[in-house]
Amino acid sequence: MIIEILIGGIIFILICIILMLMAALITAILLTIFIKTNHAILPRIVLFFANILETPLRYLMWLLHKEPDILDDTLTELRNHLYNAKFLKTPYDQRALFLPQCLRHADCPATLNAEGLQCKHCKRCCIDEIKTYAEGLGYRVFIAPGSTIVYRMVKKYRPRAVVGVGCRMEIREGSEKLAAWGLPVYGFKLLTDGCVETKLNIDDLKKKLAQKSTD
Ligand code: SF4
Repeated sequence: MIIEILIGGIIFILICIILMLMAALITAILLTIFIKTNHAILPRIVLFFANILETPLRYLMWLLHKEPDILDDTLTELRNHLYNAKFLKTPYDQRALFLPQCLRHADCPATLNAEGLQCKHCKRCCIDEIKTYAEGLGYRVFIAPGSTIVYRMVKKYRPRAVVGVGCRMEIREGSEKLAAWGLPVYGFKLLTDGCVETKLNIDDLKKKLAQKSTD
C-alpha cells in the first residue's frame, strides 16, 4: 500500500514537471515569435505563464544562448504592445510620466517633497527638456526617487495611462504592478544604468509621449 502511494506520488510529480516544462517551452516559442516578428500571440496568457515559469524560462533562454536579460526586456515589450491601443486612446492630460531621479546631474539643485524631486530647470540634465515637453503636451510629470512615490502619485492623481522610464528591472516590476491595477502602462528603458547621470534616448521618448490614437 505504501509503495503504491509512493509510486503514485512520484508519477504525479513527474507529470507536473513535464507539464511545467511543456508550458515553459510553448511560452518560450511564443516569446521568440514576438521577438522575431513583433506579432504577439495570446499576450495575456504568455505574460501569465512567463511570470509563473520564470526560472525554467531563464534556463531555456540560457540553453538557447540568449542574453540573460532578454526575458525581462521581452516581457516589457510584450506588455507595452498589449496596452498600446489603450495608451494611445488616453488623452495627454490624463496621462502621467514618471522619470527616475538617476537622470539628474550630480550637482542637481532640485529639492525633494512628497511628490518627488522638484526640478529647478537648471538645464544641467535632460529632465528639464523632457519635463517641459511632456507638460506642454498636458502630461503630469513626476521625478521619482523610488517606486513608492510612483504608486502613491498614481493613487493620488489617478492617471488613466502611464509612461514609466527606468532601468530594466524597475520598468518590469513597475509595469507589472501598474498593469495589475488595470492601468495601460508603457515602460521606457534607460540607455545606461546607475545611480546618477544615466542616459536615455530623448527623441524616442518624445515620440512615444506624443503618440495618440487617430481614431
Ligand atoms: S534640470 Fe532639473 S533635474 Fe536636471 S539637474 Fe537641473 S534641477 Fe536637477
